[in-house]
Amino acid sequence: MAARSRDSVERSPSSESTFTYNEFLEMFPDNEACLAYLKEQFFSDGTECPSCGKASKFHRIRGRSAYSCQYCGYHAYPTAGTIFHKSTVSLQLWFFAIYLMSSTRCGISAKQLEREIGVTYKTAHRMFKQIRTLLSDEEDPPLSGDVEVDESAYGGRPRAYETRNNLGRIRKTYRPTLLAMVERRGRVRVRLISDRGTRAIHTAVKAHVLPDSMLFTDEWNAYVTLAGRYQGHRRIKHRAKVYVDGDCHTQTVEGFFGLVKNGIRGVYHAVSIEYLQNYLDEYCFRYNQRNSRTPMFWAMMERIRKNPPAAAATAA
Ligand SMILES: [Zn+2]
Repeated sequence: MAARSRDSVERSPSSESTFTYNEFLEMFPDNEACLAYLKEQFFSDGTECPSCGKASKFHRIRGRSAYSCQYCGYHAYPTAGTIFHKSTVSLQLWFFAIYLMSSTRCGISAKQLEREIGVTYKTAHRMFKQIRTLLSDEEDPPLSGDVEVDESAYGGRPRAYETRNNLGRIRKTYRPTLLAMVERRGRVRVRLISDRGTRAIHTAVKAHVLPDSMLFTDEWNAYVTLAGRYQGHRRIKHRAKVYVDGDCHTQTVEGFFGLVKNGIRGVYHAVSIEYLQNYLDEYCFRYNQRNSRTPMFWAMMERIRKNPPAAAATAA
């Protein structure tokens, strides 16, 4: 992406801040500025017009959140297909919600957003949920190298699936389990799986870790049978009270679990299974950005750019 002018505001070199509130306000003083930003992302000068196909310039249409093609008059809506589409909340508040989420280390509750921007709790909850959908790592390449894998039960008791199979019987017990896979000094990925059985674990690991990786796990049986598919597999003998043996350990993944569980307990209190993956995506995104030089806010905004407007725009 082209360099942005955001670096023009000086800040103390010793400040940890990467994007201050002042910088935010300077870039996005109102809705118009936010719309102009989205227009630049999706319909900058020279962008091929979806209607006439010419490299066009798009001009602001008064009274609408749209721009029109200089040749055919096609109406381009920069918010179409984005999380902002058809929302009654102003664009600037949306941007500010992203700013808030990006500026906390361990999460921010919908309750807090409700207080900050004066929307209802329901709206605040929906906004954060929408923003989190941008943070999913589903499209990212699989993990590789030295990868620690571990699972952890989520919530107290097991529960029965609500869906019934085609014989009308309730499906077997479901024990929500978090499976975390972490590249040492690299990326993390977490999936909510149905239980800690062999099938569930194998499916998830195979989907997210490349075969040329070296796995580090504990002694759980499901991992033993997984070993054959990988370059190597080292198990730490937790049962024998060994936790670190040279480079054989699962400290990285356990550290990540600590982070997630403390975060969820402290900020969100309890997260229903239905939304849990959504929250996990947020934690993973933060973790994966930890060494990046790109401020978190811009890393999140980048995800909006990756989801270009759907062809929801209408012709003139
Ligand atoms: Zn056109």
